[in-house]
Amino acid sequence: PAIVRIVDLVKNYYMGTQTVHVLKGLNLTFDEGDFIALMGPSGSGKSTLLNVLGCLDRPTSGSYFLGDVDVAQMADDQLSEVRSTYLGFIFQSYNLLPQYTVVENVELPLLYQGIKLDESTKARCTALAEMVGLGDRLDHRPLQLSGGQQQRVAIARSLVNDPHLILGDEPTGNLDTKTSVEIMQMLRALNRSGKTIIMVTHENDIAEWARRVVRLRDGMVESDTRNDARTITE
Ligand code: ADP
Ligand code: ADP
Repeated sequence: PAIVRIVDLVKNYYMGTQTVHVLKGLNLTFDEGDFIALMGPSGSGKSTLLNVLGCLDRPTSGSYFLGDVDVAQMADDQLSEVRSTYLGFIFQSYNLLPQYTVVENVELPLLYQGIKLDESTKARCTALAEMVGLGDRLDHRPLQLSGGQQQRVAIARSLVNDPHLILGDEPTGNLDTKTSVEIMQMLRALNRSGKTIIMVTHENDIAEWARRVVRLRDGMVESDTRNDARTITE
């Protein structure tokens, strides 16, 4: 079944008297369990689309069905609720809070949601940190960790609400090749365990880890292909 369906999605920005047409009527359906790489040259609209998909920004017109619900019509507080219960986010620069430990960073989305932190949330976040291989770093702070370890904290944090859909904005953009492969192996494992992932990347080597590659150009879909014939050593 479809987890994401966008229909005639248009996004304009208005700057003074000028209208900037960024997304020019996109139609895309993403199936539950898929792993999609969004590619395209700088300025093609990738970030704008990811912001709409992440309910951080609303389309100018068109529909965005997340599951069965048209989130394009939702009010801000409902969008916020959708973000924190349905979506997980991973960023290029990790977006961890430096004063907090690994486990506390993983707990953050719960805190944002107003959930009371206690022994059970701590146990859950500790288990997630252990799952991403940081069992011996639970009380470290982000600056005591490598970039790859920081991104693993962010992956654990993205999972804390058991989201249906994980959105990644160049998740390996600040990492060396070897570490990028480790992160992509982790994302692939998550995808195989059932998580739907949509990730922006401008690197072909990274897009090869996805199952499907959607390329934007000038706010339209230029190509949409599946990576079926790929061979990737794990
Ligand atoms: P990409 O992520 O593919 O580089 P973006 O979605 O960031 O593309 O940007 C697409 C176009 O939209 C660019 O021309 C950019 O200048 C414009 N744009 C993005 N955000 C804004 C904004 N807040 N106001 C005006 N124009 C914007
Ligand atoms: P609210 O509108 O209620 O303040 P936010 O927009 O701050 O909600 O965030 C809602 C959820 O979206 C958070 O629980 C978090 O998981 C995710 N999120 C949004 N932006 C970020 C970010 N910059 N870093 C980490 N998580 C984010």
